[in-house]
Amino acid sequence: MTKIQSIRSIRVSLPFETGGPRHGMRPSLDAWTKMECVMVRIKTSDGLEGWGEAFGHAMAPGSEAVINQILAPMLVGRDSVAINHRIAELERPLHGLGRSGPLMYALSAIDTALWDLAAQRAHLPLYKFLGGESGVLTKYASLMRYRGNTDAVAQNVERARSYGFRTIKLHETTIPAFRAARNAVELDDKICLDVNCPWTIAEAREVAQEISEEGFHWLEEPIWPPEDFEGLAEVRLEGVPISAGENITTLHEFKLAMETEAIDNLQPSVTKCGGISKMRKIISLAEVYPVTVIPHCFYWGPGYHATAHLAASCLTPTPLETAFITFAVEPHKLFNSRSDQLTLDDTPGLGFISNWDELDKFIISTDEVNAS
Ligand SMILES: [Mg+2]
Repeated sequence: MTKIQSIRSIRVSLPFETGGPRHGMRPSLDAWTKMECVMVRIKTSDGLEGWGEAFGHAMAPGSEAVINQILAPMLVGRDSVAINHRIAELERPLHGLGRSGPLMYALSAIDTALWDLAAQRAHLPLYKFLGGESGVLTKYASLMRYRGNTDAVAQNVERARSYGFRTIKLHETTIPAFRAARNAVELDDKICLDVNCPWTIAEAREVAQEISEEGFHWLEEPIWPPEDFEGLAEVRLEGVPISAGENITTLHEFKLAMETEAIDNLQPSVTKCGGISKMRKIISLAEVYPVTVIPHCFYWGPGYHATAHLAASCLTPTPLETAFITFAVEPHKLFNSRSDQLTLDDTPGLGFISNWDELDKFIISTDEVNAS
C-alpha cells in the first residue's frame, strides 16, 4: 500500500491589481486586494506529493481548520490509492457537519490531491489520465467588480480584448455597466454577466427582459437564493441563457437544477463541490441533460490546474475561467491573465509546480499532520 505520510495545509494571500478602482465583492465587504488560497500537499510512502485546493477567499480560515483539525488526522497512515473509499470514509461519517461549506471545500482539496497522485503513478498528465486528448484550452477573462464604474468596465474589457480574449465576463449588476462592456467589443465577442445572486425573481425577470435583445452570452446567478431552481427557471424564460452551479455541491442538487430546466451552462466548482471525483460524476450526469458544463474557476492555486485538466478531459474542451487580475508575483507558469490560450504539458498529474521562491513570503499560515 502507498501510505499517506503527511498532509500539509498552506494558506497563501497573494496581492493583486485589477486595472481599476478597488471594491469588495459585496458592498459590506472591504476592498478586495489579496486573493487567499488554501492548498493541500499530501506526501505518500512512494515518495510522491499530490496537491489540491480548498475554496479559500473569505472562507480560507474555515477550510484550513477543517483540513488540519478534522480531515488530516482521519486520513494520515491510510492507503492513498483507493480514492473512492478514502473519500467515503470522510464524507459519510461527517455528513451531519455540512454538505457544503468548509467541510466540502476541505474534502475537495484532499480528493484533488489524491487524483494528482494517481495520475502521477500512471505517468500521465491528469487530463489524459481522465481520458482527454488535447491539453490546449481557450480561456475566458473573468473581470473583477468595478461597482458600476462604466469607464473602468470599458477600459478593462478593451484591455482583455487586446490580450486576445473573445469571451469576457463582468461582475457588475447595472445595465449601464453591461452596455459599456457590450459597446467596447465587436459584435461576435461574448459578454457574460455574473451578478452573484442580488435580485428577487421579479427583479431578475425585469433585467433579463430589458437586455434580452442585446446578445449577452449568459446571465449568471441572477437571483437570491442560488438554490431556488424554480425561480431561476422562470428567469430563464425571458430568453437570456442562464449560468449557475458554483454554489451547488451535492449530486442530487445538480440533478434537481437540471431537471428543473433552470440552467443552460452548469458551473460546478472543483474546490467547493468535492474535487475531481465529484466533478467527474457531475460531468457524466450533465450528459443526459441539455446543458453545457463550464466549470467555475475563480482561483489561482492547484484548483486552477484541476479545472484546466477537467476542462481538457471533456470531449469538447470547455473554456477555462481565468481571473483577469495581475498578481504581485506569478504564482506558477500556468496562470497568465494576458493570454486567452493555455496548453497543459505532459507533466504527470496536475503539474502544480509553484514559484515558491517568490510565493513564500505570502504564506500566512501552514500546518502539517504526520502519520505516527
Ligand atoms: Mg460566478
